[in-house]
Amino acid sequence: MYKSIIIGTGPAGLTAAIYLARANMNPLVIEGPEPGGQLTTTTEVENFPGFPDGIMGPDLMANMRKQAERFGAEFRTGWVNSVDTSKRPFTIQVEGQGELQAESLIISTGASAKYLGIPNEKDYVGRGVSTCATCDGFFFRGKKIIVVGGGDSAMEEASFLTKFASEVVLVHRRSEMRASKIMQDRARENSKITWSLNRTPLEVVAGEHSVSGLKVRNNETGAEEVIETDGIFVAIGHTPNTKFLGGQLDTDETGYLIVKPGTTETNIPGIFACGDVQDHKYRQAITAAGSGCMAALDCEKFVEGHAVHDWSEILNQD
Ligand code: NAP
Repeated sequence: MYKSIIIGTGPAGLTAAIYLARANMNPLVIEGPEPGGQLTTTTEVENFPGFPDGIMGPDLMANMRKQAERFGAEFRTGWVNSVDTSKRPFTIQVEGQGELQAESLIISTGASAKYLGIPNEKDYVGRGVSTCATCDGFFFRGKKIIVVGGGDSAMEEASFLTKFASEVVLVHRRSEMRASKIMQDRARENSKITWSLNRTPLEVVAGEHSVSGLKVRNNETGAEEVIETDGIFVAIGHTPNTKFLGGQLDTDETGYLIVKPGTTETNIPGIFACGDVQDHKYRQAITAAGSGCMAALDCEKFVEGHAVHDWSEILNQD
């Protein structure tokens, strides 16, 4: 039985853990299959305040974890199979850990970038393949880049990347875009963006250390082509990690958890959401960390006023 269980260990979950641990809430943090979240798949992080020389993504996450542990946060590893939100204390089933109960839950399971699923793609993440222009665009100054996708994300990433790249080729599998007109127009007006439509990506072409091209199928002729490039940004959407919740929490039409504006409260009192699992707009480490802090403060206040369990004995021992 815990006062609070935090599910997910990206910047949101770990910031919530630091705040709750410092507030003597003895949080349990469940680490899933991608400990540290999306930042562990990136290289240098240059826009997280406090690190004037930048910091490697995995190091930033390791530091946050250490900071949470220092104040007494407990960590366990396991896949959360299910959550029973029908009554408090809430019960969660964790693979390898059995059944755990808590007065409150913080959901910070993030969102996973979708990949194309083509040969070499995953092997070259961080070495020419990226899913985050804001994180990695800076490393492609003066280079030729491909952005894959036809939605708003692809338009936004392509426009953003022209700040660094000499040329951005937008590769999309159809001739029609899914993106809104305004985002398309903005990209079309940008002279650094060229369009390679009706092309289905088949394989990341790479040398020993870096990406050199993207093999595509021309859907008009059926022919295979290689588009030369120094980097490939895959911008085909994200999937919020909410499957384990079994639809018990309100989501928007794309699956992101809905929180009451200006708070981290979900539709179920005592369950809070922070980070990318509830944010498809900003998706930055610093905004995730900020919302993790909010979740901890919301959660602490909730447990103070609504605890089911009598914590006085435990509190007296503190
Ligand atoms: P999206 O709208 O779902 O678009 C995904 C794009 O990727 C589609 O063009 C799709 O092609 C393509 N795609 C998907 N799987 C693919 C595959 N295996 N191979 C090749 N191409 C593939 O996703 P999104 O662009 O991330 O946008 C998600 C939501 O966030 C949208 O509601 C969007 O409006 C919003 N958003 C808004 C902004 C903004 O307003 N500033 C910025 C970003 C995102 P098809 O079209 O052929 O299916």
